[in-house]
Amino acid sequence: MRTLAKRHYWLSLSIAALLLLSGACSRELPSQYFRMLAFGTIMELEVIGVDPQTAQKAHQALQHDFDLMHKAWHAWEPGPVGRINQYIREGKPLAAPPSVLPLLRLSRDLAEKSDHLFDPGIGKLIALWGFQSSELKPHAPPEKEAIEAILEQHPSIQDVHLDGMHITCDNPAVQLDFGAVGKGYGVDRAIERLKEMGIGNAIVNAGGDLRAIGSRAGNPWRIAIRDPDGGGIFALLSVTGDESVFTSGNYERNFSWGGKLYHHIIDPRTGYPAKDSASVTVIHSDAATADAAATALFVAGPKDWHRIAKQMGIKYVLLIDTEGRAYMNPAMRERLKLQKTPREIIISDPL
Ligand code: AMP
Ligand code: MG
Repeated sequence: MRTLAKRHYWLSLSIAALLLLSGACSRELPSQYFRMLAFGTIMELEVIGVDPQTAQKAHQALQHDFDLMHKAWHAWEPGPVGRINQYIREGKPLAAPPSVLPLLRLSRDLAEKSDHLFDPGIGKLIALWGFQSSELKPHAPPEKEAIEAILEQHPSIQDVHLDGMHITCDNPAVQLDFGAVGKGYGVDRAIERLKEMGIGNAIVNAGGDLRAIGSRAGNPWRIAIRDPDGGGIFALLSVTGDESVFTSGNYERNFSWGGKLYHHIIDPRTGYPAKDSASVTVIHSDAATADAAATALFVAGPKDWHRIAKQMGIKYVLLIDTEGRAYMNPAMRERLKLQKTPREIIISDPL
């Protein structure tokens, strides 16, 4: 999905920040760290108060699960989603691969609630822009006509029909790309697995996007939110219990051409990278919803994020626009410890 190199800076920032923030008491803590490779990024597992054998088992189980998930959900490599895409292209029905069915169902639901600003059916547009490539190089943006030719066919995950196990799609322009939700869904499965193993205090961090359960030896997990303008830390946030924090940012995957920056979050209505937002951070109980919502609210932008957040049942949002203004709901404002002074802070009505 995403290249490793692109994420290194933020990843190291997030690891450094987490270590730094919890550093004061980390020496006494029986905390164990593991790293895994999945979804084109380094995933971090931290468990607290777990015996080393169980921690090792958890690490192996998660690495194994992530490998399977990565293979199953990759849109552009051979595998179950690749096969669905091939059948859709050929206009043929197929039996849904069990590894994809729940993600497909959930994604259809989330897409609908987001007014299709999050829509994993727009894989053709993603590919046209070249964002499917694991080695993103600067290149000319696609021709307007090529974008319009896809838009005219209105590809959407809503065209993918599920009847029990049967998948049919009446729109050959649909190509599934779960890049905006798969990582979140994978993090949820990982946390589920840890809970099954009796682990109650843990964090699964996917390059800065994470879900945390329990606490850090009685203290909250401390999370750093990146400043989309030049990096550094924009705000700090405490998390306890069971919460996910996901960010979509224009700095994650992009290329410059002719002095313009083109990033990877595409507005399904225009076929172009979504305007006005620089980053959106969402806190929610489950990571899949947080992931999809961060993408949807990024597309919705400063004018429409509040309405879409309400529809998606999101209670905490921070949106930083391309001019450095920070939009947030009052509950989010209360949770953030700002480390930078934004150009302006705009507090919305409660969500
Ligand atoms: P995220 O970083 O979670 O916002 O996900 C961005 C990735 O999801 C991109 O690299 C694309 O593969 C895909 N994507 C881009 N725009 C959209 C969109 N509007 N809806 C669904 N998926 C998208
Ligand atoms: Mg997302």
